[in-house]
Amino acid sequence: MNTPNPVFIPGPTNIPDELRRAIDVQTIDHRSSAFGELLHPTLEGVKRIFKTKTGTAFILPTTGTGAWETAITNTLSPGDKVLVSRYGVFSHKWIDLCERHGLDVMVVEQGWGLGAPADTFAEILAADRSHEIKAVLVTHNETATGVRSNIRQVRQAIDASNHPAMLYVDGVSSIGSMDFRMDEWGVDIAITGSQKGFMLPPGLGILCLSEKALVTTKTAKLSRCFFDLGDMATNYEIGGYPYTPPVALIKGLSHAIGMLEAETLPAVFARHYRIAEGVRRAVSAWGFDLCAKDSHLYSDTVSTILLPESVDGNAVVAHAADAYQVAFGAGLGQLAGKAFRIGHLGQLTDVMALSGIATAEMVLSDMGASIQMGSGVAAAQEFYRSSHAANARMKRAA
Ligand SMILES: *Cc1c(COP(=O)(O)O)cnc(C)c1O
Repeated sequence: MNTPNPVFIPGPTNIPDELRRAIDVQTIDHRSSAFGELLHPTLEGVKRIFKTKTGTAFILPTTGTGAWETAITNTLSPGDKVLVSRYGVFSHKWIDLCERHGLDVMVVEQGWGLGAPADTFAEILAADRSHEIKAVLVTHNETATGVRSNIRQVRQAIDASNHPAMLYVDGVSSIGSMDFRMDEWGVDIAITGSQKGFMLPPGLGILCLSEKALVTTKTAKLSRCFFDLGDMATNYEIGGYPYTPPVALIKGLSHAIGMLEAETLPAVFARHYRIAEGVRRAVSAWGFDLCAKDSHLYSDTVSTILLPESVDGNAVVAHAADAYQVAFGAGLGQLAGKAFRIGHLGQLTDVMALSGIATAEMVLSDMGASIQMGSGVAAAQEFYRSSHAANARMKRAA
């Protein structure tokens, strides 16, 4: 079942060896001061990665979905109205979660391949003079379609009518891989999980709340117990958790933050862009289209590739696993069978990306797609070579 090949799914990512070693820890007493000495610097590190100075960080033993539930249940009350757009499976799942919690969800349907409709949001918020809408929910990087939304524009849409609605952002497949600025973009709650940009195994939900969002936790009436941030904050003050904390993963998170900061965030984002752009050049050389409708929407963590009708996306993914022991992402929701996804986030290099592109070419050819073998690899090679030449020139000039 194990293969030395990297995975090309958009999370969980490949786990760097040093992170696997970092989470191999003996039990410590989570009520001792040793745990607080691990926890508090890690919470500070999370804030630096989210780019918030005024926010408060929380780390919960859950996944991204649990972090959504934490955000919603701690800040809203039954019947509260939220505004959200559906443009893929993850934005859909967030809507479903809100509906099941009894919120009044106002959904703006958007074409898959597009991002959050800031203009429509602005019109709806301007018309909401009695300020019934309590929060606007946005999936920053829609992992099903490979689309990045513009969060700054959504904040401007809220501010244009001086609307007090809070802005909640799902950054599960962007934070730690793509530019994210919680304070500067006016985000009230940002969430992620451990298994994407932080390159860890799944198991942590990580979120930051603005001062405004934190105040609403005092009056929010949706029910919660395990995910209660008030209990969590009280226990953080005395260095602990209201229950047994996932010590090994928190140790891993601390180490992952160190790795991202050693590389520097601008370099991490530039690497993700470079690798993604190589994949995009390959897709274009094959003659295929991305689901993302415009270049300003391109995600640097996942590419969703539309397939000709004669090629079944699920068969592509199954064949890649069977024949070459390589994992690609399947098309999700309305894209099931019609697309496949190449995940390119976490610890990847140009060389690893080339192996994924080369494998995709073999698989697509096996499945009868009429692509020129080697064309995508060559296009990506050209791009990687030219961007390294540019880097070398910049280094010499510096
Ligand atoms: C992976 C993902 C999620 C779900 O996270 P889980 O950790 O699987 O619960 C939510 N939103 C986005 C954008 C994702 O990529």
